Amino acid sequence: MSAAVELASRNIPVSVFEAANTLGGRARRVETNGIALDNGLHILVGAYGETLRIIRTVSGPDESAHLLRLPLQLRVEPDFRMRAPRLPRPLHVAAALAFARGLDFPAKLAAVRFMQTMKARDFHCDAGLTVTRLLTQQCQTDKLVDVLWNPLCIAALNTPPDKADAQTFLNVLRDSLAGPRDASDLLLPRTDFSALFPEPAAEYVRRRGGEVQTGQTVTALRVLDGGFELTTSSARRYSHVILAVGPHRLARLVEDIPQLEPQVGLVNQFEYQPIYSVFLQYPRHVALPEAMIGMRDSVVQWVFDRGRLCNQPGMLGVVISASGSHQKLGREELAQRVHEELAQNFSLPRPDWHQVIAEKRATFSAVPGLLRPSNLTAVPGLLLAGDYTAGPYPATLEAAVRSGLTCARNIVSDRD
Ligand SMILES: Cc1cc2nc3c(=O)[nH]c(=O)nc-3n(C[C@H](O)[C@H](O)[C@H](O)COP(=O)(O)OP(=O)(O)OC[C@H]3O[C@@H](n4cnc5c(N)ncnc54)[C@H](O)[C@@H]3O)c2cc1C
Repeated sequence: MSAAVELASRNIPVSVFEAANTLGGRARRVETNGIALDNGLHILVGAYGETLRIIRTVSGPDESAHLLRLPLQLRVEPDFRMRAPRLPRPLHVAAALAFARGLDFPAKLAAVRFMQTMKARDFHCDAGLTVTRLLTQQCQTDKLVDVLWNPLCIAALNTPPDKADAQTFLNVLRDSLAGPRDASDLLLPRTDFSALFPEPAAEYVRRRGGEVQTGQTVTALRVLDGGFELTTSSARRYSHVILAVGPHRLARLVEDIPQLEPQVGLVNQFEYQPIYSVFLQYPRHVALPEAMIGMRDSVVQWVFDRGRLCNQPGMLGVVISASGSHQKLGREELAQRVHEELAQNFSLPRPDWHQVIAEKRATFSAVPGLLRPSNLTAVPGLLLAGDYTAGPYPATLEAAVRSGLTCARNIVSDRD
């Protein structure tokens, strides 16, 4: 959708075909019991410059209607609290660490030193390092790793720290914690994800003469002389095609295009990580002390109060990223376990109902040495977009948006 918006903004006619009935892909609305939930709870950070810009393009300059912007603040139960004051960088992060509750002085010093050392190294580390190895090399204390670095790694890379690529983690730290002050802001959605971007984006594209069709699976793609034939319910010709399907859908779509074998070869090497979302509807009076709270030593990683965020009183949404022991539990058992863990920290009655959504292939594993395909292919005019294409970021909204924009800009310069 970001590629389509970029092309439409330059008055280039564009057609979008989406197989599902709801726009948004891995960040989309899922209706349950008449309530608009998401397939997965998502957060954005201030460093998502292109994502935030394109949301403004389609929805207007006032982000506050769709996103709650909070200066960096982390509360991880039972005892960790960190909040960045409104100071210029890098003082805001240094002060947040220095005044954090739940860390002793050596841990705070280690954290500040780590950030300084990484900055001095321009946020580069040896190839092949995992996050755990990097943190050990940098003498980060167990508690610091438990309450801060590991939760950040799992949230950002959706990969267990002992498998996750340290360089990708550093790229995220460089642009968020070590970026301009507002780059470390947290942006929590006040609406479902289809309404946040893809639906207003579709309106934007249509207003500029483009088309966006849902429930239209692309079943075949043929390379013609000077263009492409793309088949959905009928076959049509196009001068350029951006394939913006998830990585595991790519091989099937391009099986008749041998020039794309290198890209398919890279994607076939990917391993995937799950993300589970558990929504629990409690009575309307139930609320958390904050909109987003972390938990450690538990299956629950983060819990969001959708009453505060999305005007859904009593609705708590729990995120469990990356692989782990929770995958052994059935859905009922998992929901029960999540409720019990929440009830240990907050005063909660039994939920009225729950919904467990397991995205088994939420993202690729961001492991060291992973090679990702570039946007351009050996077929002129055929491009690949998505969070999995080559770039500094792990599989995130920002990676997907940047990838789409790169494709669109390539097409624009191709036409000039
Ligand atoms: C549960 C969950 C939680 C997440 N949390 C976060 C977060 O907090 N922050 C963050 O930044 N990122 C998060 N992510 C990652 C983020 O959602 C993805 O990186 C991003 O949505 C990927 O977008 P994409 O356009 O690359 O791919 P997708 O969203 O997968 O889009 C691909 C689209 O192609 C469509 N499609 C596939 N085949 C065809 C076909 N043949 N014809 C037509 N259409 C087809 C699919 O239906 C889909 O809509 C999360 C992901 C999940 C699953």
